[in-house]
Amino acid sequence: MQSLRVDLGSRSYPIHIGPGLIGDKDRFAPALAPGPVAIISDSNVAPLYLEALDKTLRSLGKTVLNIILPAGEGSKTLASIQEITGQLLSAGFGRDCSLCALGGGVIGDIAGFAAAAYQRGVAYLQVPTTLLAMVDSSVGGKTGVNHPLGKNMIGAFYQPRAVIADTDTLDTLPEREFRSGLSEVIKYGLISDQGFFSWLEDHMDAVMARDTAALMHIIERSCADKAEVVTRDEQEGGLRAILNLGHTFGHAIEAASGYGTFLHGEAVAIGIIMAADLSRRLDLIRESEQDRIYALMEGAGLPTLAPRLPVTEYLRFMQVDKKAQGGQVRFILLRGIGEAVITGDVPPAAVIQTLNAFM
Ligand code: NAD
Ligand code: ZN
Repeated sequence: MQSLRVDLGSRSYPIHIGPGLIGDKDRFAPALAPGPVAIISDSNVAPLYLEALDKTLRSLGKTVLNIILPAGEGSKTLASIQEITGQLLSAGFGRDCSLCALGGGVIGDIAGFAAAAYQRGVAYLQVPTTLLAMVDSSVGGKTGVNHPLGKNMIGAFYQPRAVIADTDTLDTLPEREFRSGLSEVIKYGLISDQGFFSWLEDHMDAVMARDTAALMHIIERSCADKAEVVTRDEQEGGLRAILNLGHTFGHAIEAASGYGTFLHGEAVAIGIIMAADLSRRLDLIRESEQDRIYALMEGAGLPTLAPRLPVTEYLRFMQVDKKAQGGQVRFILLRGIGEAVITGDVPPAAVIQTLNAFM
């Protein structure tokens, strides 16, 4: 097992990473509040891992309530919060209870927001079961649900008491979901960790084979790199925007192609390739660096081309992207492998050339 701590001012929590952790009661005990525990999971994950987690928590003498939501983004609604809080109230759960998210980013976001809101805040633990949830949503404290008018529009910053990432759960993750998570992993190397990017170039075979040691390494590096950025900018003042490398293009690709065509990480992979191309056009990186980025995405089995649509379609969605500020689209670009920069000063002609080059 590997552990790291995320330190955010007065609050700090551990992230434990390794095989078999769902069965390791000693990881859970220090993070739980004195009262009962509700496990919140989804209809895909519950049949696989809920029994084991339930058993671990009961071995600690806990009363355990299981709440299972339908799998998928469609559950990220206020109705789910109403459902969870209704079940907690019916079971007589008080402020001393703990909520434990067992699932991917969808369950993490819902359970985290339910924990932030229930009786003005109860203890919250994350047991992420997708690569994306392990490397992205387990650091940063963003929780929330969607509104019909916008994704993640209702939420709160709320930190978990602990994140317990059992790498064995990744055995059952569908291949596409796994690769999609890898795109965010590669992103951390590009933003701030040149050594990690090189490591990924050398070990992509082991990663793709889901070798336990390789998985532990990529999760640890990703969480540490993200934590470093988030710690310096917890409430999203500015620096945290570098985590959106590839996301301005990526969100436009998700929207223009119709949500659901690409998984988020797939769209981000193409977005990162586009951001690298734009950086090279603006003489920020060399062609050889751009080639390495392209090769690594391809090696991770990620898509490298966006659907052929009128450029105006993409531009339209880039303008409405919520990261756009004051009408000017801000881009996260690369000044090298391992160094991201934020700029609002990008000639539209260069953006159009980049879009045309990758569809
Ligand atoms: P997800 O939670 O929908 O999981 C993807 C699919 O895999 C689901 O069908 C799920 O049931 C299934 N699954 C999960 N674990 C499995 C396992 N071990 N074996 C087999 N199947 C498994 O999606 P996700 O990609 O994990 O997360 C996406 C969500 O995360 C989005 O809603 C996004 O907004 C959110 N997110 C939040 C943050 C944050 O900082 N809070 C960061 C990134 C993404
Ligand atoms: Zn992302």
